[in-house]
Amino acid sequence: MAIKTWKNYIDGKWVAAQTGELFENINPANTSEVVGRFQRSGPRDVQKAVAAAHKAKKMWRETPAPKRAEILYRVAEIMVREKESLARDMTREMGKILAETRGDVQEAIDLTYFTAGEGRRLAGETVPSELKNKFCMSVRMPVGVVGCITPWNFPLAIPSWKLIPALVTGNTAVIKPAEDTPLSVVNFVKIFEQAGLPPGVLNMVTGTGPEVGWPMVEHPQVDLVSFTGSYETGSLIAAGCATHMKQYSLEMGGKNAIIVMDDANLDLAVEGILFGAFGTTGQRCTACSRVIVHRKVQKKLTDMLVKRARALKVGDGLNEKNEMGPLINSEAQAKVELYIRIGKTEGAKMLCGGAAAKGRGLSKGYFFQPTVFTDVSPKMRIAQEEIFGPVVSVVSCKNLEEAVDIVNDSKYGLSSALYTQDVNRAFQAIRDLDTGITYINASTIGAEIQLPFGGTKGTGNGHREAGTAALEIFTEWKSVYIDYSGKLQKAQIDH
Ligand code: NDP
Repeated sequence: MAIKTWKNYIDGKWVAAQTGELFENINPANTSEVVGRFQRSGPRDVQKAVAAAHKAKKMWRETPAPKRAEILYRVAEIMVREKESLARDMTREMGKILAETRGDVQEAIDLTYFTAGEGRRLAGETVPSELKNKFCMSVRMPVGVVGCITPWNFPLAIPSWKLIPALVTGNTAVIKPAEDTPLSVVNFVKIFEQAGLPPGVLNMVTGTGPEVGWPMVEHPQVDLVSFTGSYETGSLIAAGCATHMKQYSLEMGGKNAIIVMDDANLDLAVEGILFGAFGTTGQRCTACSRVIVHRKVQKKLTDMLVKRARALKVGDGLNEKNEMGPLINSEAQAKVELYIRIGKTEGAKMLCGGAAAKGRGLSKGYFFQPTVFTDVSPKMRIAQEEIFGPVVSVVSCKNLEEAVDIVNDSKYGLSSALYTQDVNRAFQAIRDLDTGITYINASTIGAEIQLPFGGTKGTGNGHREAGTAALEIFTEWKSVYIDYSGKLQKAQIDH
């Protein structure tokens, strides 16, 4: 099959990068397959995209929000129709199994239907004035041009978390997708185009972080940068945005944990750990990478877990029989291998996995065995640092208080979970776990779009995406005072 070349989308047109350069997008399950060629853009392409978004700003913010939303509803309808082909393209470029890429597309659909509803809400406040014949209210205003920088692990869902709330609230946008998964964003942009989004409202520039992402951070006409990715890149972006006095929202890493108490339903807990630790090959920001288990049930739980981990079917995600796809690229594989060595050197005991997965159909991809470490102490690097691969560390505890302390002893605070039958313990954990998301008797993954998504500490900068909370990122409050007394009234002074 001929390899397709995709262009940037600027001011409603598909255009080649000024650099004249391309990069290849490789299938991580079969590295001899080139999924497509994409523009390796540079700062001049970013300038053109931002200029288009800036030019469209006035028209789009003056378009009534319900009309903006109508276009977004059409986007959702097209995604419903194209769900299967969007999922298949995503599996080819990202590797996760079809069930998961269908879930990724579904998340974008759900988010779009839910958030487009804001076109007829976008509620502010009306409050009484302290003065006679005066009216007070607050309204939400768009921020301006939003620069979106997205990672590869949720190639469609994460761009939707940013673009849909940005656009329904009247902002215009420029998106830079991750180099590893540009096709899903190209597909998404084509859907916006088909749905009738006016030129300039959404622009896409593909390329590397330093060559495309960073110029967006530095550009004076980008008013807000919305970033999801690693802690290291997020720190750079925060510093850059602070220097240029622009707004930014960051969603970064996690070191998420499942606590299993001695009264837990262990079958259910094992299901949750498998899904959390090995789903998406452990490459989710909410992946379960620590299990904190009560010492009374540690041996039983670990035995059950290892048996199930060994039996997981690893392979190409396009084959529906496979349960776990490859890692995203060779750097990710090298990083996981490094942490396997670190875990062993630190004295943890590896019960299964620990190497590239071998077998029929696996030689051309970045496949890795599901790996379980036990005898892990909370301060070991494998219990502290984000591995972003199919590796889970089992730590033992004597009671819930100790388990909560272990979970909270992390620079991140994204997702946590507790398996117990005891409602008192459950509410105690909900109160004490320092994470943005807590699950009871469910895994660390599986967030629904109608609630806020994000975390505490090094996971973010206080913002939340999804739900109605996303509006706080993408709008500015304006307070409005209407004095109909016909005279000068002075707040605080006219008592
Ligand atoms: P990176 O931080 O490497 O990349 C994220 C995005 O930032 C990519 O588009 C990347 O471009 C871009 N980028 C890289 N360097 C710069 C730079 N100097 N200036 C501007 N942009 C830059 O993260 P990954 O893509 O590796 O994603 C994995 C990370 O994302 C994990 O830590 C994970 O936990 C986190 N994540 C967090 C989520 C959350 O909601 N909390 C959700 C999903 C992932 P490119 O790669 O194309 O060069």
